[in-house]
Amino acid sequence: MSRKIRVRFAPSPTGGLHLGGVRTVLFNYLFAKKQGGEFIVRIEDTDQTRFVEGAEAYIFDTLAWCGIIPDESPLHGGPFAPYRQSERKAGYRQYAEQLVKDGYAYYAFDTPADLEAMRVEFKTAENPSPQYNQLIREKMRNSLTLSEAETKALLDAGTPHVIRIKMPLNETISFTDMIRGEVSFNTSQVDDKVLLKADGMPTYHLAVVVDDYLMKISHAFRGEEWLPSAPVHLLLWKWLGWQADMPEWAHLPLILKPDGNGKLSKRDGDRLGFPVFASDWTDPKTNETTIGFKQHGFLPEAFVNLLAMLGWNDGTDQEIFSIEELIQRFSMDRVHKGGAKFDYEKAKWYNHEWIKKSSAIELANAVSKIYADKGIAINDESLLLKMIDAVKDRCTLLNDFIQQGSFFFQMPESIDTAAIQPKWDEKKNQFFVELIRAYELSTLWETHDLEREFKELAAAHQLKPGELMLPLRIMLVGGKFGPGVFDIAAAIGKTATVHRIKLVTGILEQGART
Ligand code: GLU
Repeated sequence: MSRKIRVRFAPSPTGGLHLGGVRTVLFNYLFAKKQGGEFIVRIEDTDQTRFVEGAEAYIFDTLAWCGIIPDESPLHGGPFAPYRQSERKAGYRQYAEQLVKDGYAYYAFDTPADLEAMRVEFKTAENPSPQYNQLIREKMRNSLTLSEAETKALLDAGTPHVIRIKMPLNETISFTDMIRGEVSFNTSQVDDKVLLKADGMPTYHLAVVVDDYLMKISHAFRGEEWLPSAPVHLLLWKWLGWQADMPEWAHLPLILKPDGNGKLSKRDGDRLGFPVFASDWTDPKTNETTIGFKQHGFLPEAFVNLLAMLGWNDGTDQEIFSIEELIQRFSMDRVHKGGAKFDYEKAKWYNHEWIKKSSAIELANAVSKIYADKGIAINDESLLLKMIDAVKDRCTLLNDFIQQGSFFFQMPESIDTAAIQPKWDEKKNQFFVELIRAYELSTLWETHDLEREFKELAAAHQLKPGELMLPLRIMLVGGKFGPGVFDIAAAIGKTATVHRIKLVTGILEQGART
């Protein structure tokens, strides 16, 4: 019988979500949905020293923004609850004890001072940071070096201790990664990781295996940085007798910095001026805010699309995909092995394409929110839609709607009269004075009416419309930009149009006289 597809995203709530983290979620999610399976979010919060207030809520907000709804999670519930590892604490010890009983793990009673002394004593030029491993464990205070009676006495006395995995010496273990194929490790390269801590909490290594087993996870896709942990997990699956149920693993390639080598970091974003987190994250300890794609003016559709294309394609030249299309087309065998270089210009290109592709109605909420944040109230919904339609092709980021369209709702913040002044003369002044009158009397206020009146008047004044259009544009929008000038006049209405022409003509005349 084939296995039910159940994939999980298992973040630790330690801070903002890096775009690599969201890509991991996305690939898990796309795979699950393509196969008609379930997508689970499990919060891996066993390391209390790294726990950060607000990080879990941030993760769920980010997923919701991206349109990724978990089937099971601490928020959504499910048959395998609880989905927070800290709430499952009591369940892990039995597995660690089982491993000790079977000879695959051991109790270690070393104090922090003992460990520090070990690091100093065994430090050599070739091995600057010695680890608790197959050779060193022989010299430490644990149930392998102590007698059974001594161990029992220590345990009975409640002596603080951890349980460590007993990594075999010089064995080769391997597994088949869905992206990398066969991957092998020599067990001597891995130290005796702690499985259960002195406070009774499991470490990530034990908890991830136990929960993937108990939650019947069929596939686990995670970042490449977890590959070195795979041998520990492989052995745990084997030694706990669950090997047949082990999920299929894929270790996703890193997202690389645009310049040079190495993983894209928050610092690269700060240095090069682009977001690296999904949405704004304020570190509760430092109060420092790291800007996110969302607040930087990205549409969630574009963010999801650009993440999917970091390391995957469908084998054609198509680059624009909705999440529904991604679900249909996604396959793990088209995920590249090599790291994907992040290119912010390309990221903006996706956003521009999505803004162009979206209708004014689809964009309305996001755009009016941006206006509200800037203190510009929009009371006229139909004017908002007109503005969006008129300027969206010129907007790369949502925030560009402010610069490109705020003159629809209020006087331009500044008016570049200097661009009109040098060619301003009495003839032009006369023309605009009459245009004001003509427009004031106009009963028709459609783009073509306004354009026709303007051109007829220009002809009567023996002026070329071309020479008058730029001044009119600057009067209405403040500068040399924006959509068709008569479209603008039609949209902002008679009062605003006439008012702005009057105002700027007055300023220019004042300038001409002084
Ligand atoms: N809790 C790990 C993290 O924070 C999950 C790694 C995994 O998926 O196994 O990324």
